[in-house]
Amino acid sequence: NVFAETELHEDLKNNIERCKYVKPTPVQRYAIPIAVAGRDLMACAQTGSGKTAAFCFPIISGIMKDRLASGLVPSMPRGGGSDVAYPTALILSPTRELSCQIHAEATKFAYQTGVKIAVAYGGAPIGQQLRVLERGVDILVATPGRLVDMIERERVSLKKIKYLALDEADRMLDMGFEHQIRNIVQQMNMPPPGDRQTLLFSATFPDNIQKLASDFLSNYVFLAV
Ligand code: AMP
Repeated sequence: NVFAETELHEDLKNNIERCKYVKPTPVQRYAIPIAVAGRDLMACAQTGSGKTAAFCFPIISGIMKDRLASGLVPSMPRGGGSDVAYPTALILSPTRELSCQIHAEATKFAYQTGVKIAVAYGGAPIGQQLRVLERGVDILVATPGRLVDMIERERVSLKKIKYLALDEADRMLDMGFEHQIRNIVQQMNMPPPGDRQTLLFSATFPDNIQKLASDFLSNYVFLAV
């Protein structure tokens, strides 16, 4: 069983059990070990395939392990005069509904781990979303338009992003988000190159998605289940 056998952080494993995830879905079975090994991944996954856990587990576990390696420093609330949030992980999704769903799931997986998750989407007042960011954020789940707004207001910086997941990438392109997505990813190129891990999930693989993958991913594994 990939949940037990993969080197996920023990606290996350306990949460996975508590969420009653016993048997991994096919996309989880193959994607999780690849992502935990640190590889970039382009995965074919439909709605309902269990893809949310497939990208959330490796990201949450990675953040917990990074924290252990750096001497148990928890994510600090912003302070020292800084108004800017620096998430470590970004999960981009096309809609408010999907973003909220991912945020709710990820929050359950990260229960009592200290990993902080926030959500940002358009069509709702920005003030409340910004106030949550002020408490510090490790994983930001966002729709592209609202995220660009927050970046332009200098309330979010992507300079410390180490993990990037794109969910329903084909739908994001169909909705006309390509320009925003490219703008967003361009802001993350922190040296040294290859330091960011990127996980791209899409139901279909037309040319524009393949182009996105070759632009954003490095030496990636292609997974179709
Ligand atoms: P998703 O495709 O990520 O939106 O997941 C679809 C639904 O299946 C969600 O309600 C998940 O909580 C649930 N789910 C995903 N993976 C598993 C699993 N391995 N065991 C039980 N439920 C799961």
